[in-house]
Amino acid sequence: MNLMEYKYKDMIHRCFRCGYCKFPTDWSDVTNCPPYARFRLESYSAGGRLWLIRAWLNGELEWSPNLANIVYSCVGCKNCVEKCPHSFNDDVVNMIIAAKTAMVDEGKIPKAVGEFLTNVQLHGNPYGMAAKRREDWMEGLNLEPYKNQEYLFYVGCEGSYDTRAQGAARATAKLLQKAGVSFGVLGSQEISDGNEVEMMGEDALLEDLAKKNIKMFTDLGVKKIITLSPHSYNVFKNRYPDFGGEFQVYHHSQILANLLKKGLIKAPEQADARITFHDPCFLGRWNEEYSAPRKVLAAIPGATFAEMARNKKGALCCGGGAGNFYTDFLGGSEDSPARIRAREADETKANILAVACPNCLTMLEDAVKTEGLEDKIKVRDISEILTA
Ligand code: SF4
Ligand code: SF4
Repeated sequence: MNLMEYKYKDMIHRCFRCGYCKFPTDWSDVTNCPPYARFRLESYSAGGRLWLIRAWLNGELEWSPNLANIVYSCVGCKNCVEKCPHSFNDDVVNMIIAAKTAMVDEGKIPKAVGEFLTNVQLHGNPYGMAAKRREDWMEGLNLEPYKNQEYLFYVGCEGSYDTRAQGAARATAKLLQKAGVSFGVLGSQEISDGNEVEMMGEDALLEDLAKKNIKMFTDLGVKKIITLSPHSYNVFKNRYPDFGGEFQVYHHSQILANLLKKGLIKAPEQADARITFHDPCFLGRWNEEYSAPRKVLAAIPGATFAEMARNKKGALCCGGGAGNFYTDFLGGSEDSPARIRAREADETKANILAVACPNCLTMLEDAVKTEGLEDKIKVRDISEILTA
């Protein structure tokens, strides 16, 4: 692809590298773009990346593995969209994703990205694990397969396969059962939702996954979906309608807040708990849902709540988006965004770091351990706090 074939050819030159996209909403820090926080090089910020992409597409810069790593280090957190002051701000992240698509089309992608996409294509999940293993998290829960219940509980790849994220899937299912919610699951029939695939620029695979999921959901009569992951929530809600899939989609935080409000579940007393919350980008900046998880936490009797300095629209991403929980372009340093976030949680003097995303759960729990904070802070999905 050259610049003339690039979808954003009339826009990309308008970035003049002012650098505003690196700040949080309160301008308190210059590190709210996770790869910039990690590497502190201008090329790893949104603006720097856009200039590199333009130079590559214009033939002024040759493709190299380093260039691909820089482009793929964008985790799609949308801080740049929030902070770029220009009229094209909505498309800053789209311009980066389109550059990833150009690299996919030319077969010039980092090895870890190739592995991720191949595993999704061949196995329906990025881990390359067997479909049957998707049912591991359900063991002993007596869950029903989806068959005309009110809701489909779509667990997603991380909740199904990752041994830590399985805890959040189990806790959510138990709460739904306790509240008497009519729901079923797909078990081994479930396949990737495609959100990360799109963030990695593999448009054809997203379309294939979306069409397969939409057909399966439609054939089963699914109308309402509860997702464990904000990533699934985002793609079902915002992208599936483009492929003809119109469903009522809810993130588990929204369902749990509603069940608490109706008195169908009750939060256990936690007098010693001081809780802080990490906003997941695909719930917050991508979908502007900041209140539902906070309502859940506010319902816990005896607990106190403390916001981190960077929160809601200004939150620092954990660094796990766009498949980085698997590819790990931002790992291996005390400046990895998850480790910065673990230290920020510690600054609130919280003893529970609450999350509402299976990717954040695994990223932040690892970071808390690496920082040596595991005796001070426990990382818990909001569903796990309600079942404590
Ligand atoms: S993307 Fe926007 S905020 Fe960032 S450097 Fe370019 S013009 Fe400035
Ligand atoms: S989406 Fe996030 S990681 Fe990517 S350039 Fe924007 S601020 Fe940086």
